[in-house]
Amino acid sequence: MSIQTLPATQTREIISVDPSTGEEIGRVLLMDADEVNEAVAKARAAQPAWARLSYRERGRFILRAREIVLAQLEEIAKLISRETGKPVTEAIAMEIVPTLDLMQYFAAKTKQLLKRKRVGLGQYNLMARTSYIVYKPLGVVGIISPWNFPWATPLDEVVMALMAGNAVIVKPSELTPFTALKIADVFKQAQLPDGLLQIVTGDGSTGAALVEAGVNKIMFTGSVNTGKRVAEAAAKHLTPVVLELGGKDPMIVFEDANLENAARAAIWGAFCNSGQACASIERCYVQESIADKFVELVVKETKLLKQGKASTDNIDVGAMTNEQQLEIVEDHVSDAIQRGAEVRAGGHRLNDSKGWFHQPTVVTNVDHSMKLMRDETFGPVLPIMTFKTDEEAVRLANDSIYGLTASVFTSDLDRGKRIAEQVDAGTVMINEVVYTHAVAQTPWGGVKQSGYGRTHGTLGLLELVSAQHIHLNAMPRLADVWWFPYTKRAGALFRDFARRFTTGSVVRSIPLLPKILRRLFEPR
Ligand code: NAD
Repeated sequence: MSIQTLPATQTREIISVDPSTGEEIGRVLLMDADEVNEAVAKARAAQPAWARLSYRERGRFILRAREIVLAQLEEIAKLISRETGKPVTEAIAMEIVPTLDLMQYFAAKTKQLLKRKRVGLGQYNLMARTSYIVYKPLGVVGIISPWNFPWATPLDEVVMALMAGNAVIVKPSELTPFTALKIADVFKQAQLPDGLLQIVTGDGSTGAALVEAGVNKIMFTGSVNTGKRVAEAAAKHLTPVVLELGGKDPMIVFEDANLENAARAAIWGAFCNSGQACASIERCYVQESIADKFVELVVKETKLLKQGKASTDNIDVGAMTNEQQLEIVEDHVSDAIQRGAEVRAGGHRLNDSKGWFHQPTVVTNVDHSMKLMRDETFGPVLPIMTFKTDEEAVRLANDSIYGLTASVFTSDLDRGKRIAEQVDAGTVMINEVVYTHAVAQTPWGGVKQSGYGRTHGTLGLLELVSAQHIHLNAMPRLADVWWFPYTKRAGALFRDFARRFTTGSVVRSIPLLPKILRRLFEPR
């Protein structure tokens, strides 16, 4: 894609910057409310024809787009890397591979996942009643997304929303507009009908305009503070919202865990994407008896990591995407040090670089009075704290306002499951970290301040449709037993209903049949 620069006279613009070098990548329009409304109107006009297509026909566009992504993989990975500072290899592994998988999954499976579902009615079947659910598109879905996974986060939701028969408007982060424009470019090459996928570039004001624009649902991914503002604004229009917000995800390492693996998982979980994943390991709790050995392994592995400019090969950790986030990381580390924490590896920003790099940092002697253990750091810092018992591990993990994901490391899988089910989080991984966002089949979302609603998997797909209940009475000639007039016979039957029908037992309800029939044929 050629990156166009707007004329210098254009004041309503946002500038995308390469965080590894500080150099400008390009400029795009900061769209206002009129432009957002225009996009929504265009989407609304395009959606009904799209909804009339079969799942198979919709899937063909998605699969065509998938082929284009595959053919342009290197170009796309470089663009993502340039806008975010993440290594090209990581852009492929964490953004492109998962979306390619999700595209094939929902292109093939949406029909089955959204097929008409019969509802069991129990004893109502005795009255010739049946019910089923049909899933209908919502209309126009607004997707507001952050900068940390600028390709995967919006694209996954775009694919699912389109497959469900909706039109989509994406408001990408102001830090990564070109990656979002590339998504639109891919679908344009795939000949997706005009208006079905539009990108409205801009900042928070553009996002706020989208919430006001009367779309049928907002899928918001971002910080807790913005999420609250979005929910408040959407409530005025009763627009439903899914909120995928921040996290302070814990990792619990038990003494029976494979320590080498747990250490590798901890550093990948804390430092991949420069720690800027909502599901990053932000707190590590390790059982006291193995803590020294575990910390030693973590520090050794951390010191082996290569950090540098994202486009260079063989880089493990890139730059952070924006300086403001880097300053939050520095603040959390210095607050922890002032309160007695010990830095065991890293600890600083790289001053010899023009980019926004923070060293992968390991900190011990931490406690829950520190910002580093309470607030979302969203940077490459791994604080490690010890615990003695299972109960203490669970209590520490749950001592947070967040609840997005959590991880438990143990060789005893039953113990892992037992502990996992006690942790307050939308997803708990046993002997794994971070990655289930990449699994198309599984739901993604949090509890507590990490938000509500789900993306991905069947639960995520159901967020993008309206479930309509169809109820059928197969005896259209007969007036129902509970309709007027309330005769004596009706009164007696209703009393029997209370005693028998409401037990939920077909066997106990069968004796009512003669009375039901008499009431049905009672002259009215
Ligand atoms: P942010 O909340 O600052 O911005 C998110 C998006 O909202 C951006 O596109 C922004 O322009 C837009 N926005 C800002 N003000 C708005 C308003 N008033 N109305 C509507 N839209 C508005 O978040 P960020 O800094 O871009 O992203 C980092 C945050 O995202 C972290 O907290 C991270 O944990 C979270 N996140 C969560 C998930 C998840 O799945 N739970 C995934 C990725 C990131």
